[in-house]
Amino acid sequence: MAETQKLPLRKEVPVDLTWDLSTVYQNDDQFEEDFSAVQAALPELKKMAGTLSKNADALLEATQRLLTVSRRLEKVYVYAQLKNDQDTSESRYQAMYARSQSLAAQFGAAVAWFDPELLTISDQQMTTFYQQQPKLKAYKRLYDQTFAKRAHILGHEVEEVLAGADDIFSSGEKTFGILDNTDLSFPTVTDENGQSVQLSQGVYSILLESTNRKVRKQAFEKLYEVYDQFQHTLAATLTTNVKNHNFKAHLRHYGSALEAALSANEIPVKVYDNLVSEVNRHLDLLHRYVALRKQILGVDDLHMYDLYTSLVGKESPKYTFDEAKKVALDALQVMGPEYVSHVKEEFSQRWIDVVENRYKRSGGYSSGTYDTNPFILLNWKDNLDNLYTLIHETGHSMHSYYASHHQPYQYGDYSIFVAEIASTTNENILTDYLLDKFKDDPEMKRYVLNYYLDGFKGTVFRQTQFAEFEQYIHEQDAKGQPLTATFLDDYYRQLNQKYYGQSVISDPQISLEWSRIPHFYYNFYVYQYATGFAAASTLADNIVHGDQNNVDKYLNYLKSGSSDTPINVMRKAGVDMTKSDYLEKAFEIFEKRLNEFEALF
Ligand SMILES: [Zn+2]
Repeated sequence: MAETQKLPLRKEVPVDLTWDLSTVYQNDDQFEEDFSAVQAALPELKKMAGTLSKNADALLEATQRLLTVSRRLEKVYVYAQLKNDQDTSESRYQAMYARSQSLAAQFGAAVAWFDPELLTISDQQMTTFYQQQPKLKAYKRLYDQTFAKRAHILGHEVEEVLAGADDIFSSGEKTFGILDNTDLSFPTVTDENGQSVQLSQGVYSILLESTNRKVRKQAFEKLYEVYDQFQHTLAATLTTNVKNHNFKAHLRHYGSALEAALSANEIPVKVYDNLVSEVNRHLDLLHRYVALRKQILGVDDLHMYDLYTSLVGKESPKYTFDEAKKVALDALQVMGPEYVSHVKEEFSQRWIDVVENRYKRSGGYSSGTYDTNPFILLNWKDNLDNLYTLIHETGHSMHSYYASHHQPYQYGDYSIFVAEIASTTNENILTDYLLDKFKDDPEMKRYVLNYYLDGFKGTVFRQTQFAEFEQYIHEQDAKGQPLTATFLDDYYRQLNQKYYGQSVISDPQISLEWSRIPHFYYNFYVYQYATGFAAASTLADNIVHGDQNNVDKYLNYLKSGSSDTPINVMRKAGVDMTKSDYLEKAFEIFEKRLNEFEALF
C-alpha cells in the first residue's frame, strides 16, 4: 500500500514507455464520430429482421452490414477500454468506457434476431443460396457454427423462457461471487516482516510463497477457518451451478454437461478425457517432484502450505525492460526473421504500455482488434517473472497480428481454446533458450528449471485436478447424488491425495479447497490451461529442435485465426489434440527437466 504513494501519475510517465493510442484514433473527437456512426446504424440493423431467409442477396447484405458495424464497434470499445485502463481515475475515460459497454449491449440486442432467423434456413436452401450468390461462401464457416447448434435449439417459447430466466439460472455463481468477494471477512495475519496484514485471496497467495514457514502455515490455517464456517452455503451455491449446467444440457439433448460446454467451442469430449487419463498415467512424476521438494526444503513433514515457496531462494535474476526485450528477441530468433521483425515493431512502435502508474489497471494483457495494433499492458518489474510475462503477451499479440493480417474480419480472431497456446509456446521457447544460455551456470539453471517445473505443476497437474473434480461432481449430480459439503470434502481430499502422493500430508483444510475456487463456476473452462500448456511444450520443442517446416506449420496456425475449428487449426501446427502424443511429449520434457533439476541438488 505504501508503494502507491511513490507511483508516478499518468502524465509523469515518459511517453516512449506508453502505448500509442493515437494510432487507433488521432483524438477523442474521432472516437466520438465512430461512436455516433455505430449508434446511428443500430436502428437500421434492427429493421433488417425478417429479411434474412428471403433470398441469397438479402442474407449477404444483412451479414455484411452486421459485420461492418461490429468491426467499427470493436474499435470504439478497445479505444475506450485501453484509455480507461491506463488511468482508471480519469472520469472522462470512465464515462467513455461505460458508454462503449452500453453500446455493445445495444448492438447485441439490435442483432439478436440474426441467429434464430438463420436457423430457419434449411441446409438445402443454403446450398441453393451459395449457388445463387457465391460471395456468401466467404461466410460459410460463420453460418455453419450456428447451424451446428440446430439439433440443440428448442422451440421458440422454451428458448424465450430460458433466455428470460438466465439471471435466475446463474444465481449460484452470483451468490458465490458476492460472498467470496464482498461478504466474507478474513482475519489479520503476520507477514515476513512481523507486520499485521489483512488476509485476502491475493494476500494469501503471496504469503503462501513466503520462505518463512510460520507465515505460510498461519495464512493457510486462517484462510480455511473462514471457508470452514461457510462450507455448507458454498456447497449449495456450487450445487446450484452444477444443476444449472446439467439441467440445460439435458433439455438441449446433450449427452452430458461436459459435452454441452465443450461443443460450444467445437471441442470433442475426447480431448478432455485424454487429458484426464494421460495426467493420471503420469502422476508418478508429480509425486517425484513433491518428494524432491520435501528433500530440498529439508522438512520432516511436507504440508500443503509448503507447495508454493520457492526452492531456489528469494532473489530473482534481475532484468530491466531493455534487457528483457533483448533476451526476448534473441530467444525468438528461432521463429524466423519475419516473426522477429513484427516483434521489433511491437517493441519500437509503442504497442506496449510498460510501467506502473497511479490508478493503472494491474496485471498484464494483450488486447486489440482487427483494425488496431495488438497492444500490451504491463506493470513492469525488473525480474524473471516479468520477462516471461513480456514474451507471453508478445505471443498473444503476434497471434493477433498474423490472424488479422491473413484473414478477413470474420475470421480475424481466434478461439479461447487455441489462444493460450501461442503465448505459452513463447514461454517454452524462452525456457529452452535460457537453459541453453546458462548451461554452465548451475545457479541460473536452477532458477529457470524451478520456474518451469512450478509452472508445469500449476498449469498441467493442478488444472487437470480441477477438471477432474468438475467432471466428477457434474456426473454425480446427474446420477442424483446430493452434493453436500461432506461429500465434496471427502472426494476432494481423496483427489488431492491421489495427485500429490504420499510425500505430502493432506492437511484436513485442503478438503475445503473446492469451496474457494471461482473457476468451478466457469463451466468446464480450466482444462484449456492444461491442454494449452502441454501443446505449447510440444510446439516449442518442435520449433527449437526441428527445422523450418515446423516453424512454417506453427505460423500457419497463427495465420489461420478462426477460419477453421480449433482442432483443425492446431492440426495445421502439427498437433492433433484428439490424440495423446502431445501430452506424452509434454511429460517427457517435464521428466527430463525434473531429472536435471534433481541433479543440481
Ligand atoms: Zn495469456
